[in-house]
Amino acid sequence: MTGNNKWIGILAVQGDFELHAEMLRRMGVAWRLIRRASDLEQADGLILPGGESTTMLKFFAEENLGPAIKEFAAKGKPVFGTCAGAILLAREVLNPPQESLGLLDISIERNAYGRQVDSSVQEGQCPGLSSRPVEMVFIRAPIIRRVGTGVKVLGRANDLPVLVEQGNVLAATFHPELTQDETIHRYFMKKADDGTGSE
Ligand code: GLN
Repeated sequence: MTGNNKWIGILAVQGDFELHAEMLRRMGVAWRLIRRASDLEQADGLILPGGESTTMLKFFAEENLGPAIKEFAAKGKPVFGTCAGAILLAREVLNPPQESLGLLDISIERNAYGRQVDSSVQEGQCPGLSSRPVEMVFIRAPIIRRVGTGVKVLGRANDLPVLVEQGNVLAATFHPELTQDETIHRYFMKKADDGTGSE
């Protein structure tokens, strides 16, 4: 995100939106918090943070945010979901099934690493983004169980797909905003600068 008046919206109804804001601040990217549908109109990209997808869905219903986000994505504007944000973007949610935006053709299982592995830090690989391993923090993380044909796997950890992309929609099952590693956010900003997805 260079020059001009572009800015990224960060959904701020619940979850770790402030950490995404801090990451963008460090990177010198303009951002604003999004709490209602009208906030989104002028944004050039949108981040859905980690947190609790069930709680976020309640706010979606109250503020009519679901249709606004779908409309935003349909314009080709880049959308990036991390962890709970990835769950919200999926076509199908398992464990238990729940409503979602259906913007990304994946099936995703919530809390899939089991209770005993509440959180972990892993070294993953995102070959198209970085030649170095990427530090990935997983917290009550989901696992992507099915990847649709139009979906590219950009990152893996322990052989599982953890960073996926379909056109203008990007999703990570981990929390890049919890590390100092800007690789994933830089990639997303590039999508926002190009004005569309990579297809
Ligand atoms: N378990 C959470 C959910 O189902 C996601 C956890 C997270 O975002 N760190 O929404």
